[in-house]
Amino acid sequence: MRDEAVTKIFETASGEGRDFLFEHEAKELCALYGLPVTRIKVAETEEKVVEAAEEIGFPVVLKIVSPQVLHKSDAGGVLVDVKDAEGVRKGYREILENVKAKIPDAEITGILVQEMAPWGTEVIVGSTKDPTFGPTIMFGLGGIFVEVLKDVSFRLAPITRTDAEEMVREIKAYKILEGVRGKPPADQGAIVDILLETSEMLMECPEIKELDMNPVLVYEEDARIVDARVIL
Ligand code: ADP
Ligand code: MG
Repeated sequence: MRDEAVTKIFETASGEGRDFLFEHEAKELCALYGLPVTRIKVAETEEKVVEAAEEIGFPVVLKIVSPQVLHKSDAGGVLVDVKDAEGVRKGYREILENVKAKIPDAEITGILVQEMAPWGTEVIVGSTKDPTFGPTIMFGLGGIFVEVLKDVSFRLAPITRTDAEEMVREIKAYKILEGVRGKPPADQGAIVDILLETSEMLMECPEIKELDMNPVLVYEEDARIVDARVIL
């Protein structure tokens, strides 16, 4: 049986007439399956955003939360590496201005404050639903590897640990994960765990039509999901 908190996330979204989860909801959902997401807090006023940033600890990332803004950076709705309370105040106003200029009728639900994850190897984990076979799981390296080279691996969910290990190894750019040109190797065990936990989440949540964790930053040890999008 799945956790009641999982059902509640979907009910909140459908109750508000949304066919997608906000990033913070998607990350709360991911966290319920053990996935390593950034620490997050949503705040509604400038004062509360500053408080949230102080609780999370600097540097932080600020992002717009709006039902009309699914691609946040396209709307000028993401600010990274905000270093202090003054930066948060400025950033808060800047994000609201940017979004209002780009999408004039955007309703502002709040601002999502999160820990700034250190730079790492960028990977993507995603899912779409095959009408016949159900949820698929996709893995690839971030940036041009997926967008231009379409260098990805796919499986139908559910997957086993062996499947997940093969998914990691079978992309053409696998060597990059092993570490090249003095760059340290990426934690492949952490990626395998993410693929397995994602598989479990997809099997327990038929509500998820599409999932896009992009990017996931992978370190020598451990990984962090810094953005997550779910379409219902
Ligand atoms: P979008 O909705 O535009 O995809 P993202 O949440 O992916 O917005 O943010 C845009 C970019 O900002 C990311 O691709 C990543 O490079 C950076 N970023 C976002 N959140 C974080 C974070 N918590 N730590 C570090 N970098 C981040
Ligand atoms: Mg993103």
